Amino acid sequence: MSFENSLNYAQQLDAQDPIAHMRDSFHIPQQEDGTDEIYLCGNSLGLQPTKVKDYLDFELSQWQKYGVKGHFTGNFPWMPYHEFLSEGFAELVGAKSSEVVAMNSLTANLHFMMVSFYQPTQTRFKILIEDHAFPSDHYAVESQIKFHGFDPEDSMILIKPRENETSIRTQDILDVLKEQGESIALVLLPGVQYYTGQVFDMQTITQAAQQKGCKVGFDLAHATGNVAMQLHDWQVDFACWCSYKYLNSGPGSIAGCFVHQKHHGNKDLPRFAGWWGHDKTTRFKMENHFNPIQSAEAWQLSNPPILSLAAIRASLDTIKEAGGIKALTKKSRQLTDYLRFLLKNELGDSIQILTPEAPESYGCQLSLTVDTHGLEGKVVFDRIEKAGVTGDWRHPNVIRVAPVPLYNSFTDCYRFVQILKQSLKNT
Ligand SMILES: *Cc1c(COP(=O)(O)O)cnc(C)c1O
Repeated sequence: MSFENSLNYAQQLDAQDPIAHMRDSFHIPQQEDGTDEIYLCGNSLGLQPTKVKDYLDFELSQWQKYGVKGHFTGNFPWMPYHEFLSEGFAELVGAKSSEVVAMNSLTANLHFMMVSFYQPTQTRFKILIEDHAFPSDHYAVESQIKFHGFDPEDSMILIKPRENETSIRTQDILDVLKEQGESIALVLLPGVQYYTGQVFDMQTITQAAQQKGCKVGFDLAHATGNVAMQLHDWQVDFACWCSYKYLNSGPGSIAGCFVHQKHHGNKDLPRFAGWWGHDKTTRFKMENHFNPIQSAEAWQLSNPPILSLAAIRASLDTIKEAGGIKALTKKSRQLTDYLRFLLKNELGDSIQILTPEAPESYGCQLSLTVDTHGLEGKVVFDRIEKAGVTGDWRHPNVIRVAPVPLYNSFTDCYRFVQILKQSLKNT
């Protein structure tokens, strides 16, 4: 596709955007002069859908009016409340409703999933993750290995990009699996790498790893709501994601979890159990014989925080209104391609884009290394912020920006690139 580097053209793209109106369903942070910020940080904390307040107010009033009876009252009773999110989650990750559940937080879920799916033996005990994994994932893996009495030193395989490359080649992952697959118990990789924005070939990796007898899990923190997936068809064993990034459900909101249906009936799987995972028809008999629900819900521990789930429900309804993940990825592709075009066209050699460019290898985030022309990186970033852009700067000179199809516009991209260019002037 050929683009033009002009405000007029960006505005034209906005006028033709079939989901441009969705921006009005979000609260866009305001600058001091009352104009919208250019918010490009949805990969870190998604903006608040306008529906959230209504949904929360509703639950607060249910609680006021009905007290404990709120568990059974109205269209959205609290007892089965998490079930109202299953369809939305399932669509986003390509799963059956019975394979997804909202519970806990992301890192907690990684641990609970490893309790079930990391079962090291003397010959098969390694976990394959990436060298530059999100620290929480690294800590979770390392501590699970130690918990089982193994040594992270020879039990963690850390895969990284080749010298002078920024993303990890699928072939390199396949080679590790070929060489060491028999000793790998678990492959735990991101769907989308948080730092570079690289999308992993989840299907190919899953297939190759499972052929070697490994279990496969994905951290979808940056993938859910960003790229389309088919976890069920791909036979992924488990996946975890948070809901506050591209799912716009508020800081620290409850996370999501996928467990493939092939594991649901397996009562031999080790698991840390809680009463909310127990068969719903007999849960309140309060007996002491754990009988897991035949779905991903079996991994739940506690009755969940309804206020957080209400925010997720508001967000999932907003995504549905936009036309679901299909509509989002369609716009996302054009929006991100436009941003990439503008960056190259306007800034040329002053920036290097770390995010890969091959189709299927990127979502809506671009990570840039900026040549600051001798300026302190912080100075450049402060200028950008002052000009109304919220992005994410990593010392010394990496900036991550995510034009989010739900609420960002082509004009946002245009303005951002102009501001970045201006901020790089050594004056
Ligand atoms: C955002 C993110 C986390 C954060 O974990 P929490 O448990 O939600 O605090 C973990 N891992 C990855 C890959 C992330 O992107």
